Amino acid sequence: MATNDNNKFQAVIAHAKEYGFVFPSSEIYDGLSAVYDYGPWGSELKKNIRDYWWKSMTQLHENIVGIDAAIFMHPTTWKASGHVDNFSDPMIDNKDSKKRYRVDHLIEAHAETLAKEEGEALLSSMDRLLSGDDFAGLKKLIGDNKIKCSVSGTCNWTDIRQFNLMFKTEFGATVAEKEEDNIVYLRPETAQGIFVNFLNVQKTARMKIPFGIAQTGKAFRNEIVARQFIFRMREFEQMEMQFFVRPGTEGAWYKFWKEERLKWHLSLGIPAEKYRYHDHIKLAHYAKEACDIEFEFPIGFKELEGIHSRGDYDLSQHQLYSKKKLQYYDNDIDPATGKPYGNYVPCVVETSIGLDRMFLSVLSYAYEEETISKEDGGSDSRVVLRLPAKLAPIKLAILPLTKKDGLPEIARTIMNDCQDEFYCFYEEKDAIGKRYRRMDAIGTPFCITVDHQTKEDQTVTIRYRDTMTQERLPVNKVIELVKGKIR
Ligand code: ATP
Repeated sequence: MATNDNNKFQAVIAHAKEYGFVFPSSEIYDGLSAVYDYGPWGSELKKNIRDYWWKSMTQLHENIVGIDAAIFMHPTTWKASGHVDNFSDPMIDNKDSKKRYRVDHLIEAHAETLAKEEGEALLSSMDRLLSGDDFAGLKKLIGDNKIKCSVSGTCNWTDIRQFNLMFKTEFGATVAEKEEDNIVYLRPETAQGIFVNFLNVQKTARMKIPFGIAQTGKAFRNEIVARQFIFRMREFEQMEMQFFVRPGTEGAWYKFWKEERLKWHLSLGIPAEKYRYHDHIKLAHYAKEACDIEFEFPIGFKELEGIHSRGDYDLSQHQLYSKKKLQYYDNDIDPATGKPYGNYVPCVVETSIGLDRMFLSVLSYAYEEETISKEDGGSDSRVVLRLPAKLAPIKLAILPLTKKDGLPEIARTIMNDCQDEFYCFYEEKDAIGKRYRRMDAIGTPFCITVDHQTKEDQTVTIRYRDTMTQERLPVNKVIELVKGKIR
């Protein structure tokens, strides 16, 4: 597949809609930009990804526990975290079309149209100006390169301004003295719910450093450039884990989590060459080290997950703003002094992944338009989602060959036995070939067909999605086989 395969991206988007994975939000009103709804199979796939992450973080790590914090938080949270002052992107508007662009995206899109060396030179000038917050310089760069608005086709630009990405809303029914006292934000990340609960969790779950707190949940960002399907949404879901460590050990833990997270991705069976690290050179002011795990989406290699060594910035800031101590007493002995390490504000290593982006990575990798050679020399085609069996929305389809001769009754009995173990689907309408194709298109790894022979010898035909091969199997071996494959 080409690095930037727009046709494939469009095909995945269309398929996601047609087969009940992802719909544009409030579509009957023409949708809401960068907001999406998950359909019957999409919500199941999304839940399976979330569960897979949650289990690997909490159940499989004795020193990580989960929480489920509220979306609304005290507004001071976002002052302390730096989001009120710093969570913004430089933007520029075209005066003719009124279209607003994120400056880096505008320049990047232009760089893609240039020859390789020229494009790289433009991007490195941009990086230099961005890291110095030199907005006048950036505007000049846009002007010098005659970068045009894609709508109006003109170079008539406003000055560059910072635009905060947090959504605000009003809280409560009482009228506050100052209007801003009623303002709350929809959280732009889930991490702060973890930081403010650091001591609650540490004490109640009796955690000893090093330990982690995991959380999944909605986050909201008023993204400006929002035309990349579920890659960049205004309402999305994050799966984050903050790992609290003794100061001085964060470098080693950062390395550990960087490797551990890539292993998690690879455990799904997607080839390693689809992933790569991107180490950050320009770090946030508080960060010590940071990298992204990038995935090769149909729109190219892009960030899927971030791993950040955040120092003690977050807890120290909350300590400062709340005037409450957020410290840990470490009674392990420091070999340098022979005394306990004592009180300190722990350092944090964060792993942060977007659930929707993870969904897109899995879906776009799984999607394949396949040509099948037929015995008579002709060919046929199918769309198949090669989803990892453990993530597939439906694990097993149970299909009676015909609607009569008692076959549906047998199939229903099998359905009753299996549906408690994993997600099953029963269908008797249409020719068997058509039913197989529909299951391929939503990624069901196994189909069993109940036919007349089943009545005689209690065997069924099991058909494998990826190879389309079929074999006979005793009915009482079905559960064991499917469970073995999805474990
Ligand atoms: P980007 O550079 O793509 O805007 P980011 O660096 O701002 O992302 P983080 O703040 O590190 O992202 O958020 C952690 C993860 O949350 C990202 O790796 C991504 O998977 C996900 N994420 C962030 N913003 C969005 C969004 N608008 N839509 C969907 N997922 C998102």
